[in-house]
Formats: sequence, C-alpha cells, structure tokens
Amino acid sequence: MGFRKFLPDQLFDGYRISTQQVLIANADGTIEDIVPVTEAGDGVEQIAGLICPGFVNAHCHLELSHLKNAIQPHTGLPDFLYQVVNLRSLPPEVIEEAIAQADRSMYEAGIVAVGDICNTASTLKQKQRSPVYYHQFVEAIGFNPAGAAARFDAARQVYEQFLSFFPEKQVSIVPHAPYSVTPELWALIRDFAPYSIQSIHNQECPGENEWFVRKSGELVGFYEKMGLNTNFFEPSGRNSLPCYIDRFAPTQPLLLVHNVCTSREDLACLEGRAAPVYFCLCPGANLYISQTLPDIPMLAQSGLSLVIGTDSLASNHQLSILEEIRHIRRHFPELPLENILSWATLNGAKALQADAILGSFEKGKKPGIISLGETLSRVKPLH
Ligand SMILES: [Zn+2]
Repeated sequence: MGFRKFLPDQLFDGYRISTQQVLIANADGTIEDIVPVTEAGDGVEQIAGLICPGFVNAHCHLELSHLKNAIQPHTGLPDFLYQVVNLRSLPPEVIEEAIAQADRSMYEAGIVAVGDICNTASTLKQKQRSPVYYHQFVEAIGFNPAGAAARFDAARQVYEQFLSFFPEKQVSIVPHAPYSVTPELWALIRDFAPYSIQSIHNQECPGENEWFVRKSGELVGFYEKMGLNTNFFEPSGRNSLPCYIDRFAPTQPLLLVHNVCTSREDLACLEGRAAPVYFCLCPGANLYISQTLPDIPMLAQSGLSLVIGTDSLASNHQLSILEEIRHIRRHFPELPLENILSWATLNGAKALQADAILGSFEKGKKPGIISLGETLSRVKPLH
C-alpha cells in the first residue's frame, strides 16, 4: 500500500504541537505513524504551516442554513429566537439546497464531524451522502406542562426518521434550553435514554439566570410575545445551571452549549458527576447575537473539557471552526494555541463519542488531515 508522508512546520497531533516530525498516513487517510524527520525516509511532502486532525464542530443547526443573513446581528437572544421561529419556513427545495451547500462548505473548511441540532429531519438526505460524521441531537421544546407528552412524541418521530439511516449511538433526543423545556417534558427525555449524550443551550443570555433566580428579566417579554402562559413557573433563587442539572440523569454525558453567563460558582454543581461534561464555545454566534463572550479563561482554568461549535448560519457568518479559533485568539491572546486546537479536535471527538476514529493522529484512526497555512488563516484538507 502507498503511504503519504507530511512534514509540516508544526504538527499538532490532538495533544501537543511538535516540529521536525513526519506524519505518515495510508492512501485512504488512516494514520500509520509519527516519526522524526531523520527516520522518515524518502517521499516526504513539505507543508508550509501547521497540520492538525480534522475539526469537530460540536454545535450546529444545519437545518437553519437558509436563514443566512436573514436576522440582523446584535438583537439579543430573545428577539433572535422570536425571529427564528417566525422566519424558519421556506419552500423545502430552498431549505435543502442551503443545507447541501452548508454541509459541503463545512467539509471544505476541514470539519469532519458535527454535533447537529435537529427540530426536523430536513437534513437527513444530505447527511446520507455527506463524508462528514454527524451526531443528531433531536431537540424537544415545550413550554406547557400539559403538552409534554405530545411534544415528546413529536421529537420521537423525528428521532425515528434519523434511525432509518443512523445507528442509535448517533441520535439523541435532547432538551432545547432550561427555559423552554418543562420538568415534565424533561423527565420523558431522561427516562427515554438515561445513558445517551445530551446537549443543551446553557446560560446563553443574562435573562436566563434572571428568570430562574427571580422570574424577571428579558425572557418575560419573550414569553409574552410568544403568547405563553408561565403561571406554573416558580423562581428558585438560584442560577439556571445549578437549578436544572439534576433533571439530567447522572449517567448522561453532557454538552453544555454557549455558557456566556456561567460563573465559577455555577460549576460547583457539576462536581462528582458520574458522566463527563463538555462546555461548548460558540464565540462567533455570541458576538453575532449579543456582542458578548463567555469567560473562556475562567472556564479553561477550571479544568473543564472545552469544545468548539459554530452554531447556525442564522447566527454566524460562516460555519468554520478556524474562524471560531480566530475569534478566541483575538479576544484571549493569552490562551495557548495547543489548548485551543485540542478543544477543536480531540475534545470535540470525545464529546460526540467518535474519538475511536476521529480527533487525533494515532495509529489506526482516520481523523482527516488538514493544513492551516503559515498564519493559521486558511484551511486546506490534505486527506
Ligand atoms: Zn444553537
């Protein structure tokens, strides 16, 4: 079998950056070895810049791709959500074409795996022919305790459609957000699959904590505008995350997405949890919606497992993990590149439970091989 041998200026293997190392891969992209340049023999291809494993986009909404440029930046979250709800229907062929384009552009941007939020099965056709690995997070939303069973059944129907193509381990039913899922609906989700990976939009705006602490803030107007009755809701005096965490089974791995308003004190409620918790950063979407970012250095210093997502084209200018990395480096230049790259590759693969194949250059894996150029400014898939 033919091998390819790559000698980049810098090689990131999923763990650390090294130099003078040659990456050896089979013709089909399976990793064979990493050896010092002195032992690599003939046929070595010199690559300018840095090579790393393919990126994992831990949070996306591929089905919203037709909403690119449809919502003005900086509206704040409640108004953004209101507009998504009211703009999302377009002719199916328009939606499908936007999905196909977005899937292709992610692959060209070096993304090999995606944690994708699904409210419908409109992405199924494109995913069947895509080289990208997808985990579907089928989202349940229900603001009314009495409607919990019906909302769960609706999510279950979408779940079943994805199971016609994907194995069970790549499909989960998950709650949308702490403020949009009643405890009744949440219990149905938890009991349905107490070991499945869960994703949730966590503490994306200040209003989420205000709602849980005092039943006040910007979500009040959102519920009113949506015509939703919230008489049943009692504030707890606590921030959102500590308030809802026990609605998940302790055996469910968690992917907490956004974390813009997560404090150091909030993290205490995760101590001793049986299953792992991953914190997903979506800086491009946070800047687009509210011009604010999570305290990423605090999250990183707290020893959490961080991952990176693009969110959707409704709330971002592109679906590119490299652009997300550039946002992080622009705002927090003190964070080591090595750490950020591990969030974008191996941690993301672990969060999606796809790290047996993806996320790092280790013998037998097939993680995708991408080059980021000398200034980390463009992605070129090499395999
Ligand atoms: Zn999202």
